[in-house]
Amino acid sequence: MALICATFFSKTTQQTIRDLKKASNADLVELRLDKAEKVNFHKVFSNKTKPVIIACRNKTNGGGFQGTEEQRINLLKKALQYRPEYIDLESDVDKRIIKELRKKAKLIISYHNFKNTPKNLKKIIAEIKKIKPDMTKIVTTANKTEDNLTIFNLLKKNNKLVAFCMGEQGKTSRVLSPIFGSLMTYAALEKNNLTAKGQLTLSELINIYNFKEINKKTKIYGLIGNPVEHSMSPLIHNAAFKEQKINAVYVPFKVTDIKNFIKNFKNITEGFSVTIPHKVTAIKQLNHIEKSAKKIGAVNTIVNNKGRLYGYNTDCIGAIKALETKTRIKNKKILLIGAGGAAKAIATGLKNKGARITITNRTLNKAKKIAESISCDYKPLSALKEIIKGQDIIINATSVGMYPKISETILPKQLLKKVMIMDIVYNPLKTKLIQDAETNNCKTILGIEMFIEQAAEQFKLFTGKKAPKYLMRKLVEKQLR
Ligand code: NAP
Repeated sequence: MALICATFFSKTTQQTIRDLKKASNADLVELRLDKAEKVNFHKVFSNKTKPVIIACRNKTNGGGFQGTEEQRINLLKKALQYRPEYIDLESDVDKRIIKELRKKAKLIISYHNFKNTPKNLKKIIAEIKKIKPDMTKIVTTANKTEDNLTIFNLLKKNNKLVAFCMGEQGKTSRVLSPIFGSLMTYAALEKNNLTAKGQLTLSELINIYNFKEINKKTKIYGLIGNPVEHSMSPLIHNAAFKEQKINAVYVPFKVTDIKNFIKNFKNITEGFSVTIPHKVTAIKQLNHIEKSAKKIGAVNTIVNNKGRLYGYNTDCIGAIKALETKTRIKNKKILLIGAGGAAKAIATGLKNKGARITITNRTLNKAKKIAESISCDYKPLSALKEIIKGQDIIINATSVGMYPKISETILPKQLLKKVMIMDIVYNPLKTKLIQDAETNNCKTILGIEMFIEQAAEQFKLFTGKKAPKYLMRKLVEKQLR
């Protein structure tokens, strides 16, 4: 099992003591002494309850220490008197100083690269190994998702190593590197107090990624998209894995080139969710596409079955299931607003269920295309007032009303009379459209219903098990509130 080291800048005595307490869920703490000239180490160390690593970095090594090298070493020596378990020194520190300081604590030798993930890491490790440290730490910067893979391959070939990438793109490795043998990952205590770029918080690692349960047998799933930063999929899939006692982890992958990504990550992953902008382009990378996904022309789920990739579209079944909890669909007159990816999936599902569909969209030509592919009616959005008459159900499948533009709505309130309204936008939980519909006593279906249903279907495809929908829903609601 890999360890979590909580890392924070020690600036004042009181703040350091407070932070030591906040790190109670970590296995170790790293005291960054870059700004600790005035800290009372005696008081700090008498409050320690975990093994401590001390480190002090100057500007070249990504830190904030502004004095001379001699002053930096003296500060570390001062802290060493209180017997921290480890001292972390950079690989370029004078060898005589390393020899002297390691007498007082176990030695971590670290290499940091703030620009990229270079190709010569093997050579760098070989140089560090000559010093015979107790632990070697390799930290590079990921400029692309594939840089994480370089670190995973390095870990597979070296032991006694801590390795991961910094930066937004490197977050993946901060979660996954223990699977490949990293001894430790570093976590911030708070989002606004990071000691390195791309750090996750202690709470995110433990509560979202179930980090303490990750081991070499943990299976990897993920979200392919761009952007992926605000996705709620890691939250719900990881919670579902934990609830079902499945040894798996789900991480976001920010992907620009899907062909390259799949080629490189296929061997270490079991499945993916797919989101904007890859739902259509992903199809070309797959070995088999399920019938309705083929008809829709987009996938949102990929399952890796012994190296063969299978594509599905659970948006379609998710929307239908959400509707069917409130109404029958067969022969219902349904107005579908929108002609993007989600609208196409919903239209296909509605058609299969025997609905009488009319599609409308801001760009009429896109509505026409979908209408022709499933043989249904289409009308311009400007005719909304007319086409709304006699509809049983109206579905908003546009992004209008989505956070942050939460005061917008695709349908004026006065048109919402005696009709069921479904909005697939789930952030905010209750869109303006839903609020207006409720005020006018219309029955409503919220976007979260479809979101949970599509995720539950995805989970079933990934694991063969039933998803804990109540838990997923609770987490999404909490997050959105
Ligand atoms: P998309 O492919 O980008 O399509 C966006 C749709 O919204 C298009 O029809 C677009 O019209 C329309 N639109 C955007 N801005 C508009 C405006 N100002 N006025 C009128 N129409 C506008 O996106 P998508 O994947 O279909 O997703 C659409 C929404 O559904 C998003 O909010 C997404 O988060 C949500 N969604 C929810 C779930 C769920 O499980 N609940 C699943 C998937 C998607 P044009 O064609 O004219 O551009």
